[in-house]
Amino acid sequence: EEKVRINKYLAMCGVASRRAADQLVLEGKVSVNGHIADEPGFKVDPRNDEVIVDGRLMATPEARKVYILFNKPRNVITTNHDERDRQQILDFIDVPERVFPVGRLDRKSTGLLLLTNDGTLAHRLMHPSSQVQKEYLAALDAKFPPAMLQKLTGGMRLKDTGEKVSPCRAKILDDGMSVLVSIHEGKNHQVRRMFSTLGFEVKRLDRVAYAGLTLGELRRGEWRFLSRNEVEKLY
Ligand code: URA
Repeated sequence: EEKVRINKYLAMCGVASRRAADQLVLEGKVSVNGHIADEPGFKVDPRNDEVIVDGRLMATPEARKVYILFNKPRNVITTNHDERDRQQILDFIDVPERVFPVGRLDRKSTGLLLLTNDGTLAHRLMHPSSQVQKEYLAALDAKFPPAMLQKLTGGMRLKDTGEKVSPCRAKILDDGMSVLVSIHEGKNHQVRRMFSTLGFEVKRLDRVAYAGLTLGELRRGEWRFLSRNEVEKLY
């Protein structure tokens, strides 16, 4: 871990300039892990020390939990580490926190992706037992016959690997070539493979909802922080 001088730390937190922070320290208004830190040379570990100024708990960007809703464009890849030079999500989202995507969307897929630095929540949402609902709008290469809905939603066996998927919900939209599918699993390319099993190709796949979150006014390539209310609903 890396320690920083208390005045720098308080400046990073946006409390005061370094000089004004020194003054707060000398006045005995700053405590670190329950003890008054009245020595300007005092160093703190921004990730682990609990710093309180005038009764207010400080949080630096490293300690702050952020939750980001991103509308992923096509041809952007869902990974933080890519050897090749393709477009990545973090080229779009410029925040000081080290956020990572919760789950994945195929490169060709678009739509709602959640990013956070909250490992606990991410882990919980990605766990197979979490039953998080994901809703996809699939544009197909042909009309989807209503008589096939039962096959799509009944818990099919994927033709390529023979894996069985859980039952899901689906609705054919007006034009007949688009289907809204709601699943709570996340097998690799699951939606594309489900349609492929039934003889359809998915031309465009857009995630329109995740765990009750929707994109609202957010356009492709745009992002926003979740509101506190939205975060509380995820927990
Ligand atoms: N299912 C897919 O096939 N692709 C995605 O990106 C997400 C779900």
